[in-house]
Amino acid sequence: MKKNLIFLGLLVVTGVVAVHYTQIVDGPVYLAEVEEETVTPEYFFGFDKTQFRIQHDTIQKGQYMSDILLPFIDYTKIQQLLSCKKDVFDARSIRAGRPYHIVHRKDSADKPVALIYEKDALNFAILHFADSLYAHADAKEVEYRERVAEGEIKSCLSNTLSEQGLSQALSVNMAEIFAWTIDFYKLNEGDHFKVLFDERYVENESIGIGEVKAIYFFHKKKEYKAFAFEQNGKVDYFDEKGAGMRKAFLKSPLKFGRMSSAYSGRRFHPVQKRFKAHKGTDYAAATGTPILATGDGQVIEARFKSNNGNYVKIRHNRTYDTQYLHMSKIKVKNGQQVKQGDVIGYVGSTGLATGPHVCYRFWKNGAQIDHRKEDFPSSDPVLKANMAAYNTSVKQLETKLESAKLYAGL
Ligand SMILES: [Zn+2]
Repeated sequence: MKKNLIFLGLLVVTGVVAVHYTQIVDGPVYLAEVEEETVTPEYFFGFDKTQFRIQHDTIQKGQYMSDILLPFIDYTKIQQLLSCKKDVFDARSIRAGRPYHIVHRKDSADKPVALIYEKDALNFAILHFADSLYAHADAKEVEYRERVAEGEIKSCLSNTLSEQGLSQALSVNMAEIFAWTIDFYKLNEGDHFKVLFDERYVENESIGIGEVKAIYFFHKKKEYKAFAFEQNGKVDYFDEKGAGMRKAFLKSPLKFGRMSSAYSGRRFHPVQKRFKAHKGTDYAAATGTPILATGDGQVIEARFKSNNGNYVKIRHNRTYDTQYLHMSKIKVKNGQQVKQGDVIGYVGSTGLATGPHVCYRFWKNGAQIDHRKEDFPSSDPVLKANMAAYNTSVKQLETKLESAKLYAGL
């Protein structure tokens, strides 16, 4: 009997809560008073809708901003208004199909006071012509929502993500973060992942992804993890132990040796006796000096060619390749995996060379570059002083990743 009473009591309490809830949702009569007192004006790009009437339209093909403005203000004023700084508003850059809005003051004259041009989902410009003429550019407020996506690779990562309605940008981001550890073009069926990231929203519509915060990737029966962490004022990615995700290149393929000729768009070729580009950096050393792979990767060429002599080319990842020319002897085979610092051959003067040296060539996205001018992203580990904070952050991120099921139906 006592038990029943308590149970009944609970029911009543729950009942009351439920009633309150329904009433709030339905907007009950007794709440109306309160609402009237706290009426919050609705704004449209900063214009109070109780004070202004908004006329919506779209830029037509071949339409000029001056044509749009002419019914509202005279031509001299338009000229003045459109001569504002181009980074605030560039009248020539308006695009057909983009929305614009004319703002009228709600008075007997229905006076037009401004034009709002929506440049894209995020950015807009307002041309004010009520009293003084001026333009100002602004951006809508972006809301960041944390999301977790998970999937199993069936064909490729981008397909797996698009099945969940997620963008290509997320797979590009993940590939960049794991550039030195996972080849995203060689994923296996059965590889799986979870990723925690921010999605950016403007007015409840997604405008793309924001920061990737944590990734768990199971690839070739091994676990890979990456966590975002801010250090020295910038966000970088680290593994679970706090090591950097990207490996730096060795500054030179020789332990000792001097640079004898720099990368140059135009130099006098010592053998060919004519000006031509030197898309490499020469390091001179005695014949037989070991040449080191400047980064981890796979040997994609190891052979003799008339000008290059004996040479080796290494693919480090989808972005970077390096090449080493004029070797006296090659020590690796095509297809072989090499680690940074591995000896891949020895200095010589085979091919088109005046004396023993290694010509070191560097490719970024298929184009040759001067590696000495390239600012390679640092791969510093988490600093000792930050390790405690990092570990705490990792724990939080892992908990969020593990809660992925809560986000089922993404
Ligand atoms: Zn050279």
